[in-house]
Amino acid sequence: MTAQTEPVAAPEPVAAPEAAYRALIGHTYSCATCRAGASCPTAVQLGRTWRETRGPMRKARR
Ligand SMILES: [Zn+2]
Repeated sequence: MTAQTEPVAAPEPVAAPEAAYRALIGHTYSCATCRAGASCPTAVQLGRTWRETRGPMRKARR
């Protein structure tokens, strides 16, 4: 009895600020470098990705 079609979970959108933010937070929790408060290139990259996913609607104005 497999006639029922379950809604397939949508793949995680690449440009999801929340997903990017979670990736960043998840990394900082598990990364020894980040926990030490040191500059971590991975965290920088994740943070940059997060900012990019937040898009132009949140463009910083100077
Ligand atoms: Zn890190």
